[in-house]
Amino acid sequence: MEFKVIRLFVLLAATVKAQVNPEVCRYPLGMTGGQIQDEDISASSYWSESTAAKFGRLDIGGGDGAWCPDIMSEPHGLKEYLQVDLRSLHFITLVGTQGRHADGMGNEFAQKYRIKYSRDGSNWVSWQDRKGQQVIEGNRNAYDVVLKDLEPPIIARYVRFMPVTDHSMIVCMRVELYGCEWLDGLVSYRFVSFFSSDDLTDGTWGLDDFLHSQIYGVWPGYDYVGWSNRTFPKGYVEMIFDFDHVRNFTSMKVHTSNMFSRGVRVFRQVTCFFWSDSEWEPGPITFRPTPDRVSQRARFVTVTLGDRTAKTIKCRFHFSDVWMLFSEVAFQSGSAVYNTSMGPGKHPKNPLTVDDPTHKVDDSNTRILIGCLVAVIAILSAIIVIMLWRQVWQKMLEKASRRLLDDDLTARLAIQNRAFAFRHSSLSSDSGSTSNSTYERIYPLCADYQEPSRLIRKLPEFAHSAENLSKPHTSGSDGAPHYAEADIISLQESSDGSIAAANMTPFTGTDSSLREFPREKLSFKEKLGEGQFGEVHLCEAEGMQDFLDEDLSVGEISESLLLVAVKTLREDANKNARNDFLKEIRIMSRLRDPNIVRLLAVCVDTDPLWMITEYMENGDLNQFLTKIFFLFGALSYTKLISMAAQIASGMKYLSSLNFVHRDLATRNCLVGKNYTIRIADFGMSRNLYKGDYYRIQGRAVLPIRWMSWESILLGKFTMASDVWAFGVTLWEILTLCKEQPYSQLSDEQVIENTGEFFRDKGKQVYLPKPPCCPDSVYNDLMLSCWRRNAKQRPSFQEIHAQLLLQQF
Ligand code: AMP
Repeated sequence: MEFKVIRLFVLLAATVKAQVNPEVCRYPLGMTGGQIQDEDISASSYWSESTAAKFGRLDIGGGDGAWCPDIMSEPHGLKEYLQVDLRSLHFITLVGTQGRHADGMGNEFAQKYRIKYSRDGSNWVSWQDRKGQQVIEGNRNAYDVVLKDLEPPIIARYVRFMPVTDHSMIVCMRVELYGCEWLDGLVSYRFVSFFSSDDLTDGTWGLDDFLHSQIYGVWPGYDYVGWSNRTFPKGYVEMIFDFDHVRNFTSMKVHTSNMFSRGVRVFRQVTCFFWSDSEWEPGPITFRPTPDRVSQRARFVTVTLGDRTAKTIKCRFHFSDVWMLFSEVAFQSGSAVYNTSMGPGKHPKNPLTVDDPTHKVDDSNTRILIGCLVAVIAILSAIIVIMLWRQVWQKMLEKASRRLLDDDLTARLAIQNRAFAFRHSSLSSDSGSTSNSTYERIYPLCADYQEPSRLIRKLPEFAHSAENLSKPHTSGSDGAPHYAEADIISLQESSDGSIAAANMTPFTGTDSSLREFPREKLSFKEKLGEGQFGEVHLCEAEGMQDFLDEDLSVGEISESLLLVAVKTLREDANKNARNDFLKEIRIMSRLRDPNIVRLLAVCVDTDPLWMITEYMENGDLNQFLTKIFFLFGALSYTKLISMAAQIASGMKYLSSLNFVHRDLATRNCLVGKNYTIRIADFGMSRNLYKGDYYRIQGRAVLPIRWMSWESILLGKFTMASDVWAFGVTLWEILTLCKEQPYSQLSDEQVIENTGEFFRDKGKQVYLPKPPCCPDSVYNDLMLSCWRRNAKQRPSFQEIHAQLLLQQF
């Protein structure tokens, strides 16, 4: 039996003169203003307490600056959402989104997102535009607000913002909703488009010729939904309208085409039934419009419903020609009626029905004109915003350069460099001072991590938390995706499938380096240093060789004892530090290269957590070179180049995995016997925004003197920015770490210099050629690492090859 029912969930309208006008109904609903309470903002997940849902308020942020989902908890983060409960139905015409800026410390945003909405919290509808597109273009940076007109608007109580992301992207959002409350008495009537299976109160009526549309670029007949009598043998189309609650209805208006020249006519008859409590009431209302065989104009047909009470209305529209085409249906109701006991006898038996063929609520030309004006205004506003943005950007850079980067800076720096007195800063008493610190403390430290020792190095430990300005970008200099630690974990995951990326324990992986080593078999010898997570100890490990892979040949084995370095997580470490410690373990366990420090085993079954790595007898390269210089004078150039080549080789390996280290420097390279170099310290390559939390919680320190201009200004960390850092590392090596890079510049000046790299007007200051460095190495290698265009920087493969040549 061919019988089609169209069921529409319709929201209602009441009997006042005003009409919800999408152009006017654009009031912020209270994410920024605070009218929306914290408890009404929820999320599928959040990365940490400080990025919980309640921080997803546009222009406010709070906490760590935005809501950030824990995308690790769900593959690809596809189902993550930030939900706003408006407590009552709202007509929502516009949404605004913003990323996590956190005063320049954050750079995560959603480039794309979707919206879902619901009226009851259980039935969710995906918003889509008039072309069926669900994905909305979101933000391009972390700070600008991007507004999106919801065309069509929605009526909902609950709205979900769902970032669309791939697994390598970290997103954070702040949002606002704009519209007005959907109140009884607020509107006279609204129109329900049949285009969507859900109601669409879009206020767009079809034109007289249904083959044309008010919307540009859509298909003929777009504004209408139509039925052919061939598929409705009963001769009518039945529609059921569900309302939010029981109301008494005064009328229904149907906007319909009457293009009889094309076989389309106003319906011959409509019969409406009313369901108020538990049954269809007797006494349906029937109305027959006067046939119009003269005018082909589209029109509203008004059906008086005689104040009938109902929560659901069922109407049967009878064909009078081959086609029936509707573009909108609107209901008018009186104030809400909650007493559903009104019997049918109370309804007028013969309601007054009105055919209203001339009732064209809106003149289509006017609407088009208004549309054009709005478009022109929008374009002009966009141009103004772009111009303002450019000005702000210019100003920022101007400011950056004003203080120092005058024309004579290069000369001054060069002169000062010549006058550098030898200064072993790591041994000097002021080694922890800001100007001498290896890392620049941009933000105050808090107690999450303990203050590291400043004796051995100048704040070396903050390498780990010297986190990045912003989120990782997804492509390296070669356009290939690159991976932070989370990514490499998933990279590896795909090969063995055994590791949960987000949950680092228990260690069930097959990696031998992840094997639990009995603590009691470690005996403490001396403290080697202190890192972000805790102290590093030299220990003797008994029976360690049983734990080692065959390919390992580390340390000094005397009988059954092996010297190892044990990195500890301090016992008062917070959850973030603990997770990062475990992540560093996870990363290291996956890296196998002669120039990458090797993880041997772990002690993680009980606290405190320890990681056992191979012992590198000569400590870190920075100390080593300084010490060597002190004790024995300069090393041969060939030795220095061979050490640089080993670093390049280790980096070549990392880049083959698309792994970005982010903190390459001599302080993060360890020296073993015979000048063997291994790259260490993968703490910083932690997921970027994770690292941001350290910063926001007060631990932020950035290795700005090693960072590329785009890492500082744009928060972009790529293989090419590692190459930049390699150039600085090479410079350190060839100057025997006698001084800090750009030691004559304050932190601010270094950042200003970064602005000059960006501007590329020839005012940028390069590190000078080290005395022992041949011109060719300086010009062809070192300077090429600092090319403004990341794509023009050499790859680690090329660097490695070039350095090998240098050794002969
Ligand atoms: P980290 O926490 O990795 O920055 O380590 C702090 C310091 O401990 C380093 O600067 C080194 O001097 C020392 N250290 C770390 N790991 C080792 C190791 N495997 N062998 C020797 N010394 C190490």
